[in-house]
Amino acid sequence: MDSELVNIPMIVDVPYRFAAGGYMARFLTELRDNGKFFGIKCPSCGRVQMPPRIVCAACHVKNGEWIELSPEGMLMGFSIVHLPLTDPTTGQTHKTPYTYGIVRLDGAYSTIEHFIDVEPDIQKVRVGMRVRAILRPQAERTGDLNDILHFAPIGEA
Ligand SMILES: [Zn+2]
Repeated sequence: MDSELVNIPMIVDVPYRFAAGGYMARFLTELRDNGKFFGIKCPSCGRVQMPPRIVCAACHVKNGEWIELSPEGMLMGFSIVHLPLTDPTTGQTHKTPYTYGIVRLDGAYSTIEHFIDVEPDIQKVRVGMRVRAILRPQAERTGDLNDILHFAPIGEA
């Protein structure tokens, strides 16, 4: 017997804050105060996770050694975004279209997702391109991932 699916459309506005935790707080504080990226190294397999996690996802052991990473890395994947998504930390929408990508900083195993400062044209962006983090001016940083304005292409090595 089929049952009727009843929908109740509503808009829920729920502002909230949550604790970043010790590892993420150190990462965000270094980014805000010193403009530096730090990852954390697994003592078993040696993988460097950035942003840092307490436990290595592969070995299930506690990470402990902090490693300063380069602000440069490689674009591992990207999307040309046409939907005006709302930034959850500012409530503002980003002008579309724009390029959003997955970046692996040099020396890191894991990746970070962010805006890529490349014209949103499939002919002008490519997986493997070298990029560098462009940060907000120090006085404007607040201690979240928006302290990174975007990643910009750099010359090929
Ligand atoms: Zn590991």
